Amino acid sequence: MKVEMGEMGLNAVMRIAWGDDQPEHIPANTLAKEFTFESLSALNRALDTHYDADSGGARIGRGMALRVGRAWFYQGIKGFGALAGIETPKVAALPSEVRARLALEALAHIFTHFSDQSSWLDESDRVFRFIVDPCAPAWGVQSDRPVCQMMVGLLQECVRWASGKDLLVRETNCRAVEGGACIFVIKKQPVEPLSAHRPNRE
Ligand SMILES: [Zn+2]
Repeated sequence: MKVEMGEMGLNAVMRIAWGDDQPEHIPANTLAKEFTFESLSALNRALDTHYDADSGGARIGRGMALRVGRAWFYQGIKGFGALAGIETPKVAALPSEVRARLALEALAHIFTHFSDQSSWLDESDRVFRFIVDPCAPAWGVQSDRPVCQMMVGLLQECVRWASGKDLLVRETNCRAVEGGACIFVIKKQPVEPLSAHRPNRE
């Protein structure tokens, strides 16, 4: 998290979230349950508040939450539990869609067993659906739009790392808006790089 926000920004957000900047509030590099739903949703709200107040736009805070989610994956979750197995040569040899599925299943398993976020994977021909109930960033929050950008960032990074492709992730249902589970839809068809649409005129 420090890497993404810088020391100053992180301290400011912690003061907003928890009223001080004691480092013990920072989650360790594990999925310890001490990092509670309340603190995650407080951090989420603080990102909105702090960055919106300073920069005059909701998008900045949401973009920051997205980046925190990506860092959360790389610094906290990537080497954890079954996810550690994704980098083995056997798994690396599998097709990218299979690797994405394995990583999402491993992530759901980790959340379910090592945090209080029960999670599972569902899918159709075109999409994966990653379902989290209850989802920590939305805990105790009411909003007119989905608020779990941290989870979107984490899922984006998880599938990118596992499959080697950029897959579009969108939160279609959010506890903060309509109650119940947060649902993240992940398109199986990768986002094509911009260069693929542009003929090279050089
Ligand atoms: Zn949500």
